[in-house]
Amino acid sequence: MAPGKTILVIEDEPAMVLGLTDALAFEGYRAVAATTGRQGVALARSEVPDLVLLDLMLPDTNGFEVCALLRQQSRTVPIIILSARGQESDKIRGLDAGADDYVTKPFSVGELVARVRALLRRAERALELDAVRIGDAEVSLEARTVTLDGRQEDLSSYEVELLRLFLGRVGQAVSRDEILTRVWGVQAINSRAVDNFIVKLRKKIERTPDRPQHILTVYGHGYKLVP
Ligand code: CA
Repeated sequence: MAPGKTILVIEDEPAMVLGLTDALAFEGYRAVAATTGRQGVALARSEVPDLVLLDLMLPDTNGFEVCALLRQQSRTVPIIILSARGQESDKIRGLDAGADDYVTKPFSVGELVARVRALLRRAERALELDAVRIGDAEVSLEARTVTLDGRQEDLSSYEVELLRLFLGRVGQAVSRDEILTRVWGVQAINSRAVDNFIVKLRKKIERTPDRPQHILTVYGHGYKLVP
């Protein structure tokens, strides 16, 4: 059902970019590449990657700053730092800046791809298996249920997909168009359909659906989740 996951490669060395994007495409991932930090941050915003490979030594800025910016954009996207430096202090700084893993060059592409797979699995499990609390509602994405004030309701598969999208981007505005693309896989239908859908979901999750506290409207844009 889901198309190949998108991996963003932020790296300025052409041979490295080519090697990585080839290896990722071979594994069935969709690889997009940026050669500067600035371009990487912009692509992360437009492509919403499932994982980022980030070189530390970039022409315009250092990878630590890029890492922190990526983290501001997404609390959850897995980030693997690629670096020629192998110093302990750099590893710590990278992990502190929000990276999930750190690979020192030269590395084996096979091992890197295995780390990519492992981090993507971990990210998926975190979203799928955990019971999540949204305000007073207890949501189980696996069981597809929401319980509020002792009353349990089922969630449709679209509602589960939407919640998964929101939970991956907590506190961030998600546009109607993106909701349509990511949840329904179409762009053509009227984006107002999303609004009606949200109204129904709020009734399941919000104690006061008319004055929502958690699934908030971002006027002229879309919605955001604030647990
Ligand atoms: Ca570099």
